[in-house]
Amino acid sequence: MSATIDPDTAWDAFSRRDRTFDGRFVVAVRSTHIYCKPSCAARRPRREHVAFLPDAAAARAAGYRACRRCLPDAVARDRAAVVAAAALLGGDAAPPLAALAAAVEYAPHHFHRLFHRLTSVTPAAYARTCRADRVLAALRGADNVTAAIYAAGYAAPSRFYADATRLGMTPHAAAAGGAGETLRWTRLATPLGPLLLAATARGWSRFGFDEDEANLRAAFPTATLRPGDAADRARATTLIARAAAVAGDASLPPPLRRTAFRTLLHKHATPDS
Ligand SMILES: [Zn+2]
Repeated sequence: MSATIDPDTAWDAFSRRDRTFDGRFVVAVRSTHIYCKPSCAARRPRREHVAFLPDAAAARAAGYRACRRCLPDAVARDRAAVVAAAALLGGDAAPPLAALAAAVEYAPHHFHRLFHRLTSVTPAAYARTCRADRVLAALRGADNVTAAIYAAGYAAPSRFYADATRLGMTPHAAAAGGAGETLRWTRLATPLGPLLLAATARGWSRFGFDEDEANLRAAFPTATLRPGDAADRARATTLIARAAAVAGDASLPPPLRRTAFRTLLHKHATPDS
């Protein structure tokens, strides 16, 4: 992160030991010549003794040493590991936690916590969203639902049917382009850009960033589309607010954050999933 952070915001984050600011700046303590992550557990120095610098490299260049307690140099490595893991989770065969953690050279339990801390979702939940994204496309191209299950990379039909509930309609109806279904859609601003939310009478059917009615029409060519009413907007607004309240680390790449955000929307839309 090279952007300069507002000192009052930085001091506030440092005072609260806010982990979501780790990696966005470092705190250089003039009295000890040490630099820390904003979340460092050590006792807070007086404000006049600290400087807020963009990153660890800037702190080292200014003659500071890394704190041995909070290990501020590990932040960049942690973030790179989460980005690499997210790419693996988005592939056709998402690795289980042990293999995922091994691929990025972290211990499984530690990496699970790290991934959740930076993205606000678990690796398994993130992988599920990536997999579910492929369900509709697979249904459309397949001769039957069984073929679609394997085309989308599912090892077991039960998982496919669980993910297909995110379509808000049966796999059969989705394969037919949404025939017989009515989709009510709303488009709202989110911290990560404009989002289209569409629902059937069964539940949420689509969360699409940068999408509009034309994208929804392309996804469900034979469905009836209706703009949502005030009640639909209110439900969508509530859902977005719930997800935005916990959305993860702002320094992660936007595509990763958007996938994590849609994962949070699904989590709040169906609390049991
Ligand atoms: Zn520290």
